[in-house]
Amino acid sequence: MKTVGTRMMISPPKYVQGAGAMNDLGEHAARLGTNAVVLADKGVWGFVDTAVTASLSGAGVKLTKEVFGGLCTQKEIDRVAAAARAAGADVIIGIGGGTAIDTAKAVGHALGDIAVVSAPTVASTDAPTSALAVIYTESGAFERYSFFQRNPNLVLVDTALVAGAPSRFIVSGMGDALATWYEARVCVAANRVAMAGGLATEASLALARLCWETLMEYGPQARLAAEAHVVTPALEKVTEANTLLSGLGFESCGLAAAHGIHNGLTVSHKVHGMMHGEKVNIGTLAQLVLEGAPTDELDTYLRFSRAVGLPTTLAEIGLGDPDREELLAIGRAATAEGETTHNMPFPVTPEMVADALIAGDSYARAYAKR
Ligand SMILES: [Zn+2]
Repeated sequence: MKTVGTRMMISPPKYVQGAGAMNDLGEHAARLGTNAVVLADKGVWGFVDTAVTASLSGAGVKLTKEVFGGLCTQKEIDRVAAAARAAGADVIIGIGGGTAIDTAKAVGHALGDIAVVSAPTVASTDAPTSALAVIYTESGAFERYSFFQRNPNLVLVDTALVAGAPSRFIVSGMGDALATWYEARVCVAANRVAMAGGLATEASLALARLCWETLMEYGPQARLAAEAHVVTPALEKVTEANTLLSGLGFESCGLAAAHGIHNGLTVSHKVHGMMHGEKVNIGTLAQLVLEGAPTDELDTYLRFSRAVGLPTTLAEIGLGDPDREELLAIGRAATAEGETTHNMPFPVTPEMVADALIAGDSYARAYAKR
């Protein structure tokens, strides 16, 4: 980019959300192509197969089913890309969680000009709308971000599926979405260039802020709706916050230490059973500590996290009684070159990350006893 100080915002051209929306997948996909490869893991195929097959064939879209291997790795991207090429697909549809969708986006990119549809069945991350994928190593550690020319052509969220999933998914999505505003405001204050390629616009910053406000207002209600497996206006609003508001907010405002520390946490095998947003939530607390956030703000974060059931202590993500070397290893990964931790308005060292993790943990444990 030759121009300095350019503001930029990117987004998918179409976002569809509603109970039963998966039944309209074919109708929407038919506007993008005639030959679709659909990628979903075995468990997801178990409950979407009937609706997806009926919907696509009803709309005259040829369908090739692929079973997702479970991790968005380069090897898996290459495998699915070869299958899509062999099928002569002009649309790739990723259905399921963030990693299946990231793989579908990467396949779309590898094949050049085919359309990409992202159809999350859970509201567990803000991956579905973005023009990037998180690539993992075969052992499940964060490897790199991969950036694409464009966002998915269509994002379709069936909230009946979101409500039908275990509530841990939407709660984890709230952890991912909660970080968005805290990271956005840091990037704006420090004049950082976001993933979208420019400085934040007022629009993307407003979406990040609205994401936070929506969670504060409706998060606890949405958790209860998800536990009862019912679709309510609160569940719809939080699904949108987790998916659309957080997705546009982070991509066009920027990530910071919360996600950098999340990526650092992935080097510890102890946390591999945890979901993305649960680890991000620990990163958010550490970021707030790094920033020297006022007590009120820490308390707001803790009150919300506890009300929706997000982890706030290291023990809650499997890192109880960590030794300092363990935390320093996380700190080194969190401050590796190119990490979004460096979007903080001051230099961050591995020692500072370790200290912030310890301080955040102590504060959260003290808060829990109040
Ligand atoms: Zn995230």
